[in-house]
Amino acid sequence: MFLLPQGWYNDIRNAVRRGNQLMPRVTFVIGATASGKTYFINQNFSNKDVEILDAFDYQNRAYEESGFKGRMPIKVQIRCLMKANENLLSDIIDKLKHGRDVVVEQTFYKAKRRIVYVDAIREAVKAEIEIYVMCPGKERWMENTRLRKMVEDDESYERHVAEIEFPNPIEGFDSIFEVTDNGIKLRMDPPYDEQFLEDARKEILEEKERVKKEDEESRERKELLESMKTRPFWHYCEVCGKKEFITDEEAFVGGWDYPPRIGFFGMLGPRTCGSCQMKDTLYWKIQTSGKLPIVIEKYLNEKELKTWRRIKGEPESLLVDENEQESTGQKR
Ligand SMILES: [Zn+2]
Repeated sequence: MFLLPQGWYNDIRNAVRRGNQLMPRVTFVIGATASGKTYFINQNFSNKDVEILDAFDYQNRAYEESGFKGRMPIKVQIRCLMKANENLLSDIIDKLKHGRDVVVEQTFYKAKRRIVYVDAIREAVKAEIEIYVMCPGKERWMENTRLRKMVEDDESYERHVAEIEFPNPIEGFDSIFEVTDNGIKLRMDPPYDEQFLEDARKEILEEKERVKKEDEESRERKELLESMKTRPFWHYCEVCGKKEFITDEEAFVGGWDYPPRIGFFGMLGPRTCGSCQMKDTLYWKIQTSGKLPIVIEKYLNEKELKTWRRIKGEPESLLVDENEQESTGQKR
């Protein structure tokens, strides 16, 4: 299966010589899980003078470097995948620049992901870019999944197939091949119009900017929380109304119960000076209500509501004097 005729590689290589200069080539092999990508690459490229890169290795490395074991938050996962894709892309470009042919095993279901790659490669180096799309029939695919002990139901083949957007020439590939149970076929569909490219590039750019912004915000928040350990900030006693602009250290010495030393910013806990008691706090009231320890704003009196809103807004709510915030109309 999937075997190309003897000598095909050089035949094709010769056919695409442009002038006297033979351009390096990158070959993408894409397809769903268990569609036979690795097998296809082994059969057709492993004995050629090419570099074989597998996106899966890059992803695993990125996951490892993230330091998460087991369950990984989706946000971290997205960043790992982005990192893996960037590293893979930079390796591809590096090898092409050194005149090496590269074969890349990728999933690459979506046109927009491929377009970013093709754009970046075209910008960096003169190379031929081709793609093989693994399209096994249902029986073969089910057989592959059985061999891999994957648990699949009767509809999963259709689901996997539907996920892949078949590459279109507008994406910038020199050649696009469909690999079916019957062999390999050049398949250049009628090109979509330019708008398709522009939309894809815009979408990817927005995605990148969104992630960058989130990263910046979480870095700023981390820095702010770190600074709360040393900078002076407003400590408000929710019981007697006393307020002091002091550091965490000074508050501790003064007997305050206050984050970051006691409890956490933004989470309900006592906020008291050295003279007041825990049993008079909102925290105590909620904890001992006999109901679920959840704050329901409509059951709070004005004083409690003020305390609750201040806590929810921490640590920012403690940086500027509350009275000043009110008089300047500044809200957090
Ligand atoms: Zn007090």
